[in-house]
Amino acid sequence: MNNKSNYQYLLSDLTALKGVGIKITNLLKKKNINNIFDLLWKLPKSSTDRSFSTKIVELRIGVEQTVTIVPQKYSFPRIKNLPNKVLCKDETGEIDCIFFNSYEGYVKKILPIGKEITVSGKIGYFRNRYQLTNPKYISEDASLIKQSHNTYSLTEGISEKIYNKIINQIIENLPILNEWHSKSILKKFDNISWNDSIKALHKPDNIGAFKENFYQRLAFDEIFSTFLVNSEIRKKIKKNKKLNKIINIQKQNSIIKKLDFSLTNDQIKSLKEINNDLSSSNKMFRLLQGDVGSGKTIVSLLAAYNSVNAGFQVAVMAPTEILSRQHFALAKKIFSKNLRLELISGKSIYKEKQVILDNLCNHKIDIIFGTHAIFQKKVNFKKLGLIIIDEQHKFGVNQRKRLSDKGGVNCDVLLMTATPIPRTLTMTVYGDMDLSIIREKPQSRKPIKTYSKLESKVDDVIQFIKKEIKLGNQIFWVCPLIDESKKIDHSSAIKKFEFLKKKFPNKVSLLHGKTDTEKKEKILNNFLNRKFDILVSTTIIEVGIDFPNANVIIIENANKFGLSQLHQLRGRVGRGDKDSTCILMFKSNLSENAKKRINILKQNNDGFIISEEDMKIRGFGDILGFKQSGIKNFKLADPIHNSDLFLLAEKEMKRIEKSNEDISKYKPLVKLYDRADIINDLA
Ligand code: ADP
Ligand code: MG
Repeated sequence: MNNKSNYQYLLSDLTALKGVGIKITNLLKKKNINNIFDLLWKLPKSSTDRSFSTKIVELRIGVEQTVTIVPQKYSFPRIKNLPNKVLCKDETGEIDCIFFNSYEGYVKKILPIGKEITVSGKIGYFRNRYQLTNPKYISEDASLIKQSHNTYSLTEGISEKIYNKIINQIIENLPILNEWHSKSILKKFDNISWNDSIKALHKPDNIGAFKENFYQRLAFDEIFSTFLVNSEIRKKIKKNKKLNKIINIQKQNSIIKKLDFSLTNDQIKSLKEINNDLSSSNKMFRLLQGDVGSGKTIVSLLAAYNSVNAGFQVAVMAPTEILSRQHFALAKKIFSKNLRLELISGKSIYKEKQVILDNLCNHKIDIIFGTHAIFQKKVNFKKLGLIIIDEQHKFGVNQRKRLSDKGGVNCDVLLMTATPIPRTLTMTVYGDMDLSIIREKPQSRKPIKTYSKLESKVDDVIQFIKKEIKLGNQIFWVCPLIDESKKIDHSSAIKKFEFLKKKFPNKVSLLHGKTDTEKKEKILNNFLNRKFDILVSTTIIEVGIDFPNANVIIIENANKFGLSQLHQLRGRVGRGDKDSTCILMFKSNLSENAKKRINILKQNNDGFIISEEDMKIRGFGDILGFKQSGIKNFKLADPIHNSDLFLLAEKEMKRIEKSNEDISKYKPLVKLYDRADIINDLA
């Protein structure tokens, strides 16, 4: 029925399977199971061994068992809701088979009087009689039942029996694919083939055998496929030739000299890597990753400066206008007056905007700052050479690729993110980009003192704040949404605002998700300009904004957040050189586990370490920003437990890239596991 070495069979529509019609196909489609390959990952949760049959006297109540019986007598009550019943026996006793919602004809057909029938199901006991209600398996052929049956987490409308049938059918017809891995990789998994691995995966005995070769091999397959696709995208971007930018190091260094701090080693190193890319004739597609407050902005502005001096225009994009303004202000401060800088704002009047658009078109602007508005269709550049995108961990692979195309032939791309994620994840999520990392914080930076406090002790916190305000410092007060699923639930923030307003008249402002954008920008600006001292908000305090004068953050209901998120929130303060404090408030005493987590936060200021711990505790799916990052879901692989496989895949990938090996043998792998569109162009 299928070509045994062809992977195409696995990509066929579900209706290609016997016994699968439109109804089941549609039910499975709802679960995102669209072809035969998708069904392979529908794994048994547990299995029931029905291979031993019992005599009726030996039946154990409440257990799934198999028994061979002979039907004796039907009872089909005429009253609605009463079940049909069949009295059955063997030589040792009697049992009733009970059917709810069944037709007489059906019952008579499956349990004909006087025939030996094998049934299997959970045994009950009612009014001194054994009972089997809606038996799961009924057959004249005992051998069909007397085996192990897998239990699947069921899709509504599809029974376990059907799942077993469908999946057994697929396993029987599984194509034998040509091996795609190198000999040395295969050896790591004791040479087990893909085909055998899939078979092993579905064996009832193998449920949960994560350490076995078959499981590891299959996990490696999907990791490697992702890496291969990433590598292909990277290669494709690199293949685009561009005009190389001639970097004027003297000019760059004269700016650096004028800064009121010296760059950290990691900043210098990242800048060098970026400069190398700018001056090469291959397009740059680079991610600058660094913890909150690690000083990414200055690095990116220096790169912008270098590009301008090489004769190009630069676009700097930030997620919010206020952050854009901050970048713009910093650029105006550090660059010479000769540089033509401009900010495109939602508030600029039409005429002004028109002038800006004209000036961009005529190369009368060197660097433009703005939100995503700077990438609208009507915005045209004369000679765009670099796009800088700040704080955009929400871009998926495809969006990023589009961006790199959009800027035109000579355009380099630099992305910045403050979401430190563990290495295995970086390789997965950002594997299509080159990576520069700033780990080291500026030396002047003092660790943020982190405390935990019971909510009942709020008066202590108020006293503490009073002192800080007297010293001229500002405070963030964060209240999480009470019900995360109701994004509009601001009650806790509003209540706290009312409470604090009484204690600190005229010194408090409130910000939440319903505050409209214009008002929000105004409030943030007022806070920045020290027009008030305490900002109460839900978690929407924008990432990236520098509030050098805010040095205290109170986070209520801190147990509602993961470690990474707490770390990010905490990063709103401690950017200046003042002592800064983070107070985590809790409703009740902390459990041992929660204490452990809080201690990680108290003892650590390194977002990379915290995110790794966070991932160990909560699983990688929950890490801040990760859900929106466009990462695919692995079927078996797990960035925590399979970190060795991620490293192995990276090593193998590098080997292949270096050796220029023909990768067409991986085509089935990538076709099956990944976005086929990318690999269409692959060999
Ligand atoms: P982020 O990496 O979170 O974007 P920023 O670039 O906003 O961080 O920098 C945070 C603050 O640190 C800014 O006020 C910036 O001027 C300052 N800063 C940057 N680099 C250094 C440095 N090497 N030494 C001291 N302060 C620095
Ligand atoms: Mg920033």
